[in-house]
Amino acid sequence: MSEIIIPYFEIYIFIYVSFELFKEYLNYRQYLKNLQKEMPEEIKPYFEEKVFKKTQKYKKAMAEFVILKSFVHLSELVVALWIGILPKIWEQSISLANKIVTSPYLDKTGMIIFILYFLILNMFFDLPFDLYHTFVIEENHKMNKISLKLFIKDNNLQLILSWIIASFLFYFILIILEMKIKYFYLYIWALTLAFGLLFTVIFPHLIQPCFNKVVPLEEGSLKEKILVCCKKEGFPLKKIYVIDGSTRSAHSNAYFYGFFTKHIVLFDTLIKNLKEEEIIAVLWHEIGHWKYWHDKIFLFIAMIYVFGLLFIFSLITQNSYIAQCFGFYSFSNFVSFVIFCLLVNPTDFILRFFMFWISRRNERIADLYAVTNGYGQELKNGLIKLTKDNLGNLNPDPYYSLFNYTHPTIVDRIKCITMALKLTNKND
Ligand SMILES: [Zn+2]
Repeated sequence: MSEIIIPYFEIYIFIYVSFELFKEYLNYRQYLKNLQKEMPEEIKPYFEEKVFKKTQKYKKAMAEFVILKSFVHLSELVVALWIGILPKIWEQSISLANKIVTSPYLDKTGMIIFILYFLILNMFFDLPFDLYHTFVIEENHKMNKISLKLFIKDNNLQLILSWIIASFLFYFILIILEMKIKYFYLYIWALTLAFGLLFTVIFPHLIQPCFNKVVPLEEGSLKEKILVCCKKEGFPLKKIYVIDGSTRSAHSNAYFYGFFTKHIVLFDTLIKNLKEEEIIAVLWHEIGHWKYWHDKIFLFIAMIYVFGLLFIFSLITQNSYIAQCFGFYSFSNFVSFVIFCLLVNPTDFILRFFMFWISRRNERIADLYAVTNGYGQELKNGLIKLTKDNLGNLNPDPYYSLFNYTHPTIVDRIKCITMALKLTNKND
């Protein structure tokens, strides 16, 4: 009986291109929305006509940019895979490694060179788009604050850090694979978790200071009010920081991090543009995320997802036929991992859809938490200001936002908060 030959490569390209075209269709829908001149009735009570026009202009430019960038990237990737760029880089990495080290270290050194090659190539393709986005689109809409010098420094630093981190992770993964133990995917899973944990611990202390200046929030009424809120709710606050987001962009934000004790980080732009009571409302929203375990839920989902992926990896790891379909004729543990990363790429789109759906639900819960703590009106005012300052989308396409938004649209949030405010006023 003859063996069935499955054209893995062609199937992969077909699935990948289909996903990408679907994303392009969503981008196009959003673009059409940003072409509209007429202001939607539902946003009229909260935003002036000139704000609508300004955001439409910015979002139209962004949509055009995203459509073009996605199309160029898709074409580049298909051509790169078709002509076998990755196998060629791998062969060159191994031959270079051959000149430096001998047999037992060949694969690992080849892997470190391959990652650097790959990152440089990626940067080379991304750079024209990143430059255009920052110094043309953001600049034209007065959202860019970064200098070319800082931009170059950030990019180089990012490249070096990504290289070091990825090399370390893959180095240990290769050691586990070389051991040829039975449930090796469980060990890799544990390693990935440990790495993730380590990264979140070292990020604020070692990595973030390379990019941003983070200073403790100075004493004063804002700090006192934050401390009162945290104490009232039992939020395990360690420190409050201010980050110099304004050195790079006009966008503003707030977030917290940490496992057992939490650090709150406020953008300097947020402090500058919002009233104190509005910042406290944003803080209640953040405390809401903590109260309902939103960060832990995401971590749990991510753990299950990584486990699922690694289990699939254990099924295909020794299949040198799949590697050959992708043009790799010298098979190794690292090659199987590279192919695996390629194969799981489209599943990321599906995972993101579910993650974004959960995230939007969590954002509504956090908003309602601020309302129940008496800061509904301030949160509403703060969100309207933030949308104006960040040039948020005032005319989102419903399908585009379903697949791309981590937060509900501004109109949805305002409606939800207004409804909750009416209910709490009735109950009082
Ligand atoms: Zn939130």
